[in-house]
Amino acid sequence: MTPVTTFAHRSVALFGLGGSGLSTARALIAGGATVAAWDDGEAGRAKAAAQGIELVDLSSADWSGFDALVLSPGVPLTHPTPHWTVERARAAGIEIIGDIELFCRERERHAPGAIFIAITGTNGKSTTTALIAHILRRAGKDVQLGGNIGTPILDLEPPSEERIHVVECSSFQIDLAPSLAPTIGTLINLTPDHIDRHGTMENYAAVKERLVEGADIALVGVDDAYSHAIGARLMQAHCEGQRVIPVSATRALDWGFYVENGKVIYREAGHGPEEAETLGDLADARALRGAHNAQNAAFAAAAVWHCGLCCEEIAGGLADYPGLPHRMEEVGRRGRVLFVNDSKATNADAAEKALLSFDDIFWIAGGKAKEGGVEPLRPLFPRIRKAYLIGAAAQDFERTLHGAVELEQCGTLDRALRRAAEDAALSDAREPVVLLSPACASYDQFANFEARGDAFRRLAQDMHAQSRDSGEAS
Ligand code: ADP
Repeated sequence: MTPVTTFAHRSVALFGLGGSGLSTARALIAGGATVAAWDDGEAGRAKAAAQGIELVDLSSADWSGFDALVLSPGVPLTHPTPHWTVERARAAGIEIIGDIELFCRERERHAPGAIFIAITGTNGKSTTTALIAHILRRAGKDVQLGGNIGTPILDLEPPSEERIHVVECSSFQIDLAPSLAPTIGTLINLTPDHIDRHGTMENYAAVKERLVEGADIALVGVDDAYSHAIGARLMQAHCEGQRVIPVSATRALDWGFYVENGKVIYREAGHGPEEAETLGDLADARALRGAHNAQNAAFAAAAVWHCGLCCEEIAGGLADYPGLPHRMEEVGRRGRVLFVNDSKATNADAAEKALLSFDDIFWIAGGKAKEGGVEPLRPLFPRIRKAYLIGAAAQDFERTLHGAVELEQCGTLDRALRRAAEDAALSDAREPVVLLSPACASYDQFANFEARGDAFRRLAQDMHAQSRDSGEAS
């Protein structure tokens, strides 16, 4: 844990008692603050009480004694309307911050030189964050990994000169971190998202920009218009002590980090193309298939390069990165057939990435439908050998696929997997892929996308074990 000492002997109102809220309350108390914690939900309050955190109904409390409101990132700060605690804090004239801000102040006070890598972007945050941590760890670094991925930031060990913090930041977290100033800031990409919480695309982009604006080394994507504009603005501003470095997955740059012919390249400013260094070959990286992962790999390579790693360490780390669960996760092989769990693909946009990454796909899709269905995937239909439809969206998907893709209504995941595995085994493809990339939420048949992916993995692995027991080649 990182005790928060910057609020010692002061009083803090804390709203939101999910995982990160509870972690923040514990860290504040450990650092000597008095915490008045509250949540609208019973469950969070019960957990806080069980951990000895003092509950105060903030709706009827006297706010004049509080020095700050610490808010969970899930609570609206500005849109659609500010949460009532935000209004109360503003009326009391106190600052409104979150756990990332508390971490930043702690680092500034106790270990300002500690390396802090912060990662944001619309897509690829978790992959890039986990990949950076993987490459650094395997090179022997002491790494703390958390933030929006997994462990809340204040549950991590405190910053110190020999330790590297690798932290995923959502736009909501950045909005609550006014002094965010990482050693290395990473803005992967920007496309419209979370507009309900930020009002407009411009506001959303401005919030994301703050993460790189405050960074000593700003790694900024140039493959989309919004990130490109942010990079150009930072370069023009020439902030003292800041280096802004472009990153592309789609074209060779005059300088910066980029991917060309499946290789991650670094070309220093002023150097000719013959002096560019190859940092890794994505043909070796099984868990980083697809153009989207090439972008994540380029950013990860750029970040660890600035931590002093050499080409061999970077290439090795890209090659043996195991991937994250539920994101194009290879869960088994049966003969020539590869089984891939992409349960995190809860919309057509995400499923598109997986369909682009494989040929000869036996595609399991469906669940709780999202607006637009699978129509946007039409250009990729020729890659699909057959579709196996499940869940509430199955009829709707059939209407879109009809006449273009062979399909079968399977109802449930286990039937779909069995049928897809049978057909794939009989196909003439070199590497047929049974792919769960549902383009749907899971809530009709599973608690969440993790439960759906876990079920797929278990079923695929059981099938593999059965075929081994019966002596089938694998
Ligand atoms: P995030 O943490 O930003 O949600 P993840 O790394 O968890 O991102 O990836 C989630 C999904 O987003 C992946 O399954 C893939 O479909 C898509 N994705 C990942 N990286 C990128 C990227 N660089 N560009 C576009 N889409 C991506």
